[in-house]
Amino acid sequence: ILDVHIAPYYSQGWMSRGAIIVLHDITEIRKLEKMRSDFVANVSHELKTPITSVKGFAETLLSGDVNDKETNEQFLRIIYDESERLNRLITDLLNLSKIEKQAMPLKITEVNVIEVINDTTKTISKLASDKNIAIHLPEDKEAVIIEADLDRFSQIILNLMANAVTYTSENGHVYVDVESRTTEVYISIRDTGMGIPSESLERLFERFYRVDKARSRNSGGTGLGLAIVKHLVESHDGEITVTSKEGEGSTFTVRLPKIKEITE
Ligand code: ADP
Repeated sequence: ILDVHIAPYYSQGWMSRGAIIVLHDITEIRKLEKMRSDFVANVSHELKTPITSVKGFAETLLSGDVNDKETNEQFLRIIYDESERLNRLITDLLNLSKIEKQAMPLKITEVNVIEVINDTTKTISKLASDKNIAIHLPEDKEAVIIEADLDRFSQIILNLMANAVTYTSENGHVYVDVESRTTEVYISIRDTGMGIPSESLERLFERFYRVDKARSRNSGGTGLGLAIVKHLVESHDGEITVTSKEGEGSTFTVRLPKIKEITE
């Protein structure tokens, strides 16, 4: 898209008159504007969906039309779950905006990657055992130390491992591997799940992007997890990549420097 300015032009030395045409490429500006308005529309939609549901079920309960205990409980459960989703959504949104604004400086300490992976495995063990998914941890249990912000690094691992379990069906497998090189560490999280279609791969880290909206929503997802992960990885001067084959599974790989350069 080109922004065209035509200004009358009077030459001083000569009696000639003309026009100067200035061409600005505003494609990038338009793109940013569109991203911003899409974001607002997405947020509104994502917030409205659970609110509509909470309101609807609360109204039905208040009307006194529900007489049996079981339906009553079922509706209350929906209200509770949807409130939880709203809570997650708002927490994720606030986190994302703080990370984007770089409002929270990193608290860099020495972090043992293996320990974080072990702790995260405990956190998601219920989610995994409910679906009989086996989590395979690195065989080498020796400490791998990097300089990172412990909370944020843990968040990266949690989001990726929770996704691996969420998007893998019953009796599947999740493999976590750590490769320690001289100056960098590679952490890969591979699953035997549903995989991601190739046309979705490049949009995966966008806010609210989901391969399958309905399925993700049923699993309680906010569509912000990977956008947060990408920001967190990049704030540690690292990189995240993904490879996947539909029906076979996905591998997310995080590369992080072992020593974090301090940038003001
Ligand atoms: P959500 O809260 O929906 O899980 P994410 O940002 O974490 O949001 O992920 C975005 C989308 O990427 C998900 O909705 C899902 O479609 C897809 N996805 C993420 N991780 C995986 C995975 N391991 N296997 C298959 N699809 C995945």
